[in-house]
Amino acid sequence: MRTVTVVGASLAGLYAARALRSQGFDGRLVVVGAEPHRPYDRPPLSKDFLTGKADEDQLTLCDDEETAELDAEWLLGVPARGLDTRGRTVLLADGRTVSTDGVVIATGACPRGLPGPVYAGVHLLRTLPDARALRAELADGPRRIVVIGGGFIGAETASSCAALGHQVTVVEAAELPLVPQLGADMATFCAGLHQRGDVRLICGTGVAALRAERTVTGPGGGAHGRAVTGVELTDGRLLPADLVIVGIGAVPHTGWLSGSPLAVDDGVMCDDGCVTALPQVVAVGDVARVGGVRAEHWTSATEQPAVAVRNLLAGRTTETVRTVPYFWSDQYGARIQFAGRRRDGDTVRIVEGSLEEGSFLAHYERAGHTTAVLGVDRPRPFMRARRTLRDATRPPVAV
Ligand code: FAD
Repeated sequence: MRTVTVVGASLAGLYAARALRSQGFDGRLVVVGAEPHRPYDRPPLSKDFLTGKADEDQLTLCDDEETAELDAEWLLGVPARGLDTRGRTVLLADGRTVSTDGVVIATGACPRGLPGPVYAGVHLLRTLPDARALRAELADGPRRIVVIGGGFIGAETASSCAALGHQVTVVEAAELPLVPQLGADMATFCAGLHQRGDVRLICGTGVAALRAERTVTGPGGGAHGRAVTGVELTDGRLLPADLVIVGIGAVPHTGWLSGSPLAVDDGVMCDDGCVTALPQVVAVGDVARVGGVRAEHWTSATEQPAVAVRNLLAGRTTETVRTVPYFWSDQYGARIQFAGRRRDGDTVRIVEGSLEEGSFLAHYERAGHTTAVLGVDRPRPFMRARRTLRDATRPPVAV
């Protein structure tokens, strides 16, 4: 291959560029990114960046030295808007085209918004500009904040806002947040963490509408807009709010692929080796549905690219992704770590610590086997358990 184009200049895209060079690709490497920034890290956006403990320079994933070493053409601030039917030309939104022999799709996901009009004071949290805007508003004195969605991003954001002294309510449509990820028992424990931050959690009710009122903003009182004032719930309650943060999941960035021959269904469909229907096109990270599963985890976005690139350079699937899914979350001073694939019906057994202590290691078990492990403030035992899980799922090495 003479040219490989990585579409998406963030975490998975950067790891793909690194893998290409480390696996010996010495041709033209083009990285196309919709955002104007070089790759930066998203996890701190809902945690230390929001609370002011980390600044922008600590988010950088790729410094000047590495940028030079990668020897890539960075086309930033311009999204790709199409891929031709043979997967040989990437079309850019500004009309340019990139002819290529291979493509790595790493376009991630974008947060789901609420339907209806856009009001001042309503925030999504995915990008650096999103986080900058929210951080600026949080610095403006104590506020009444409603976080819509009690998943990991919602909970982390609520935790950060509470740490800054704001009055926070989390609204979750399900009877309990995080059940699909953790199962009911462990989800109950995590829901209880909100109490540590004096955050109110309202479950089992959706959002009917946002309330807003007309405001006059800007120098000289020139600009008129509408700012959020409250959240109306489907059970009729009204929660007054100066700020609303929407954390109701993310949708894979696949719109630009319409018209290409690639199958898209909640992500770019690929085999277990990240290879799409076209052998010279692979997909990685939040946008990729690898062997039927789409993970929105930092670690998947960093582990898939090495496999995807090996297959891309080989022209066929020679290797599959065999890693055990892993994610972590930091909320209310607790570090939650989870690895594996749990299913409904698994038995949960606490093997170290206890729920009462707020620090424990739990095993999910099925038919005598451990399927997943959860650690809360038990980093070392968790890492050992994760390693054991990984070794147990690794195929035997042929000798
Ligand atoms: P992204 O990071 O979404 O990057 C995709 C890039 O592609 C973006 O820059 C996007 O602008 C660009 N793009 C999109 N469309 C196009 C196009 N048409 N052309 C060119 N470029 C395009 N995971 C954990 O495991 N633990 C955590 O604690 C954790 N915390 C998180 C906190 C926040 C606030 C967020 C948002 C995510 C968090 N995650 C966490 C998830 C983790 O950050 C993601 O899984 C990871 O960023 C995925 O990387 P990616 O490169 O696949 O996608």
